[in-house]
Amino acid sequence: MDKITIIVPCFNEQEVLAALYEKLQRVISTVSGCEFTYLFINDGSKDGTLNIMRDLSKRDRRVSYLSFSRNFGKEAAMLAGLDYADGDAVIIMDADLQHPPELIPEMVEYWRQGYEDVCAKRKNRNDESFMKKHLTRIFYDILECGSKVPLQRNVGDFRLLDKRCVGALRLLREEQRYTKGMFTWIGYKKKEIFFVPQPRMAGKTTWNYWSLINLALEGITSFTTVPLRLTSLLGLFVSFVAICYMIYVFFGALIYGDPVAGYPTMLTVLLFLGGVQLLSLGIIGEYLGRVFNESKQRPIYIVDEYNQKKLFYDGQRPVREKP
Ligand code: UDP
Ligand code: MG
Repeated sequence: MDKITIIVPCFNEQEVLAALYEKLQRVISTVSGCEFTYLFINDGSKDGTLNIMRDLSKRDRRVSYLSFSRNFGKEAAMLAGLDYADGDAVIIMDADLQHPPELIPEMVEYWRQGYEDVCAKRKNRNDESFMKKHLTRIFYDILECGSKVPLQRNVGDFRLLDKRCVGALRLLREEQRYTKGMFTWIGYKKKEIFFVPQPRMAGKTTWNYWSLINLALEGITSFTTVPLRLTSLLGLFVSFVAICYMIYVFFGALIYGDPVAGYPTMLTVLLFLGGVQLLSLGIIGEYLGRVFNESKQRPIYIVDEYNQKKLFYDGQRPVREKP
């Protein structure tokens, strides 16, 4: 009997959680030879999400849940899921039914054929605005040119991972997480299957443009050092132009004895160089901030409750025993 754990990070999902559970129940009953367990992660929800999880786990012994002490973000919630899952494979999916559970039998099928990472790829981005579509493309282009591993495009977090992948992912404990990149980074045998993303069933998305831009910056700066390289190149380029201009000005003054002070040119050059320097400093600062954050070596999430039991932390190591 294969054991598969379904990991669902949830943040204010009280409207959809029960529906998701019902739907999953229906789907998994069609998969033979598999024993499914659920692992819900309550990422500091402000609504009744945790109570629904408690109820479900009381009713159904296959349901476990984790509750964070505050909102740590989806990336942290996914890591917690991977840490606490104990199946032969895990399936990560969103709570809002945008990831159709109907895909699960197909995923399991491929897993049995020997694929270790079966991920669902969005078929179209028609539901997204023109701008979002193109921004996403540019983002992927930048990431790709900076990292040595080919990236999977338009792949969400909806995927089945073999326990070997899970073990590998547990090793990656950086605080600034870009999980999508990590899936690629660990390697293993991958298979992409296609799906049409569903509209959110209820509730509203927690992502807006600002947080998407942040996520993109996070992805770029935590995954590649391209911006640093670009700064060096920019510096080189500006210095080169500056030398050419210097020669031009110098000989202009020597030969023609040009007496004009050239205040506008001066100001332009000054401001331009100032801008370039600030930009470069900013980019360096961005990386320095990351180093600073990582160097604190904080835990990535704090678990408050696990399956009806309050967890506590004892000294350095979090207590992780099963209730
Ligand atoms: N989520 C989370 N913590 C957060 C934000 C979101 O665990 O801080 C969960 C959320 O409950 C959902 C999934 O991550 O299950 C995807 O979130 P959402 O649907 O808001 O994102 P989108 O589908 O728009 O990318
Ligand atoms: Mg969603």
